[in-house]
Amino acid sequence: MLALVIRTSTLPLARIALIGPAFLGLVVLAAGGIFSRRAYDLYRFVRLGQPVGRFDDLPKRVEQETTVVLGQRKLLQRFGPGIMHAFIFWGFLVLLTTIVEALAEVFQPTFAIPLFGRSAWLGFVQDLFSVLVIVGIAMALYFRKVQRPERFRGSHLEEADFILVMILGIMLTLLLLNAARIALGIAESPERWTPFSNAISPLFTHMGKGAQGFFERAFLWAHIVLVFGFLAFIPYSKHLHIFVSEINVFFANTKARGKLRPLHIDVEKLEDGQASLGAGTIQDLTWKQILDLYSCTECGRCQDVCPAWNTGKPLSPKLLVMNLRDHLFEKGPELLAAQKSKVEVEPVALNPNVIEDEVIWDCTTCGACVQECPVDIEHVDHIVDMRRNLVMGESRFPQEAGLLLRNLESSSNPWGQPQSDRAAWAKDLGVRILEDGGQAPEYLYWVGCAGSFDDRAKKITQAVARVLQKAAVPFAILGPQELCNGDPARRIGNEYLFQTLAEQNVQTLNGKGIRKVIVNCPHCFNTLKNEYPDYGGTYEVIHHTQLFARLIKEGRLRPTEEVDEVLTYHDPCYLGRHNGVYDEPREVLNAIPGLRSTEMPRHRERGFCCGAGGARMWMEERIGKRVNVERTEEAISTGADTMGVACPYCLIMLDDGAKAKGGSLKVLDVAQLVARATGAD
Ligand code: SF4
Ligand code: SF4
Repeated sequence: MLALVIRTSTLPLARIALIGPAFLGLVVLAAGGIFSRRAYDLYRFVRLGQPVGRFDDLPKRVEQETTVVLGQRKLLQRFGPGIMHAFIFWGFLVLLTTIVEALAEVFQPTFAIPLFGRSAWLGFVQDLFSVLVIVGIAMALYFRKVQRPERFRGSHLEEADFILVMILGIMLTLLLLNAARIALGIAESPERWTPFSNAISPLFTHMGKGAQGFFERAFLWAHIVLVFGFLAFIPYSKHLHIFVSEINVFFANTKARGKLRPLHIDVEKLEDGQASLGAGTIQDLTWKQILDLYSCTECGRCQDVCPAWNTGKPLSPKLLVMNLRDHLFEKGPELLAAQKSKVEVEPVALNPNVIEDEVIWDCTTCGACVQECPVDIEHVDHIVDMRRNLVMGESRFPQEAGLLLRNLESSSNPWGQPQSDRAAWAKDLGVRILEDGGQAPEYLYWVGCAGSFDDRAKKITQAVARVLQKAAVPFAILGPQELCNGDPARRIGNEYLFQTLAEQNVQTLNGKGIRKVIVNCPHCFNTLKNEYPDYGGTYEVIHHTQLFARLIKEGRLRPTEEVDEVLTYHDPCYLGRHNGVYDEPREVLNAIPGLRSTEMPRHRERGFCCGAGGARMWMEERIGKRVNVERTEEAISTGADTMGVACPYCLIMLDDGAKAKGGSLKVLDVAQLVARATGAD
């Protein structure tokens, strides 16, 4: 057999010279055709989606592309898997040059890229990355086959293995090709600069020139066929992220993570059936959301950090994205055909046909999945859009959520308390209530519903007010004129109710000439700061921990009383992950004499939710372990006496968690500790 093959290799060069380009043309045409056909269909699927503006903020987009894609920033957060992926990804970039060389070598075996083709450094980098990619593949197979982390549960592992083997084939043929070229004496770079290819070149040095030439051509063609096979296969596989994720990162959200996209409610179009409220079918997703579906690598990082999944609930952000993608691929061709022939297709409701309702309601909108996702998929937007359809389009939501919505509609607060009681907490504190026509204060203290009506949260409200008085910060409150900011209505999916509340509040604030707002609640912080500008309300919004940190730095607030405790600080999702405020609460705590801080394993960007966000505060947790108990156990594991929070929702949830555990852990807001340390309480 070998003799036959080697005899074939002695075909006159002129004939090879003709066969080679013809075969290359065939391979390129076949693979390019298969690739283009699929790419065109994928593009048309994206075009099925609804419009969304993602062409602004070009500098930010370039920065995201540079850090997240080229720098592998998010992947490298987990060192082992991050390095593994970086080796393969960076290797692919470097090996683009080897593909150019391989194609040109079909025509001219001694081809070198103009200007730097035969340079030693290029040869070294190519040789090094050929091996690093193989190391990356070995690591990937180790993670998948030996370690088998839980995050891969539900992923398509067999297909991923096949793709890894294909990449391995591409790398091995490249190394063997280079080794054969060294033996033949036609290598582009000096041999000592390609140590790995050089090390295996003795495989060929004992052969005659004919055999060496044969193997050089054989590995060249094997390499080319594998590269083009890969190109043709990937867009049809579940792993098309290899080509799409770079685009997805470019179009990722550039605004604060906690900001939701406003839903334009066009009543006329709704009545004509030309518009929908949220995402009821796959075509209701935006084009970016469809791009998200292509981009999932099935790595399970989102699932690994999701508080719902971690406490035994059916929601896995990974499976949610995968199920939507599978549905798109199943339904997409029919939708495109119907679009072409202008016929109606029977709509398939996403919930519960593709995603169970329970999955949609389990989400706390904590954003841990979005933070973790290496390709910037925006799971929370998908979930909220499906909630919008369920609540506004279908009137379908958990029974207890109905009470929340009724309270918001009738009393403008989730507690259903009379508005006249809003300022009851301020009795005897000498806090100014801003009357109509009154002079606007420097700061408006926006108290929030929890801080106005919940007895435990009122203690935060009072502590903040006392500290502000102590530091002589001029402020006033709105009292009964303050309505719920609308966050629970918006996150549960009632966009219409949110917009009504937002517009009323903006009208009140603008009417009183308010410019600066202090909040004690991260949900109010996020809504007023990031979402009210869409409704005409632009304010300088500051969380009390940020203001306290500044006052301490300026010497206007002096924590002098000792607080002899060990504290672990819990990052509220809407302050930390959604708005990037991690340092100021810690700076304030560090300024308190006697207080010793210890971190929980999950903190800062990786903080674990208390379970209240996304209007979960008003829904029952019927499945699995309670999220607040999971978090409380983590705090207890640190040995701290106190869990510090900076959010009334977190205080309520984690205090419940501490009571459920029955230990001695106290839960206090940073404001309560500052009030104690400054003598303001
Ligand atoms: S936002 Fe939080 S709860 Fe919702 S899917 Fe993501 S990680 Fe899970
Ligand atoms: S959504 Fe993102 S984090 Fe989750 S599995 Fe897909 S790529 Fe990984």
